Amino acid sequence: MPINYCKILPCVAFAGVMSLAVSWSSALAAGAQPASTLYSQLETFHGHVCAGSIFGARLGLAAKEALKEAGGTGKFTARYYDLSCPVDGIQVGAGTTYGNAALVVEDRDEHRLILTADGNKRQVEARLTKKAEELGLRSRDLGKKARALPEGSPERRRLEQEIEEIYGWLRTAPTAEVVTVVHVSRR
Ligand SMILES: [Zn+2]
Repeated sequence: MPINYCKILPCVAFAGVMSLAVSWSSALAAGAQPASTLYSQLETFHGHVCAGSIFGARLGLAAKEALKEAGGTGKFTARYYDLSCPVDGIQVGAGTTYGNAALVVEDRDEHRLILTADGNKRQVEARLTKKAEELGLRSRDLGKKARALPEGSPERRRLEQEIEEIYGWLRTAPTAEVVTVVHVSRR
C-alpha cells in the first residue's frame, strides 16, 4: 500500500470517476459493507491513503447514519466547505456523489459537512473532533519529516509506522471520538 504524504488540503480530482462512484454508491446503499472494503475502495478512488480522505469517509458515514436515525427521507445531498481530500471520502462514505448531483463543494476552508434529506428537509452537520484534527495534522507533519529522510532508513520507517497507526485510529475509533454530529434546522 503506497503511502502518499498528501496534505490534508488540496489534492482533489473528483470528476471523471463517476462510473466508479456510482457503483460504490449502490454498493453502499446495499448496506452491509465492511469498513475494510470501504477503505480499500476509498484508496482506489482517491489514489492514495491520507488522513483527509479518511476524515471524509468518517464524516460521511456518521452524517448518513445520524440523518437516517433522525428520520430523513428521500435522496440525501451533501454540502462540504473545503475543496480537498475529504470530498472523496464523503462520496464513498455518504454515497453522495458529484456525478449524481448529490454533492456541492464550497471552498471556504472549513471541514464541515451538511447532509440534507431532500424528502423532509431534515439536516445534520458533521465536523471533526479536535483530537481527530490534531492527529490529521500530526500525520501530515510526520510525512514531511519522513520524506526528508532516506527511503528505507530505520528512522523513516519508524515515522511511517507512526503515520499508519494514526490512519488506523482514524479509521476505527468510535464515531464520537472522530466526528461530532448535530441536527440543524433548515432555514
Ligand atoms: Zn488525499
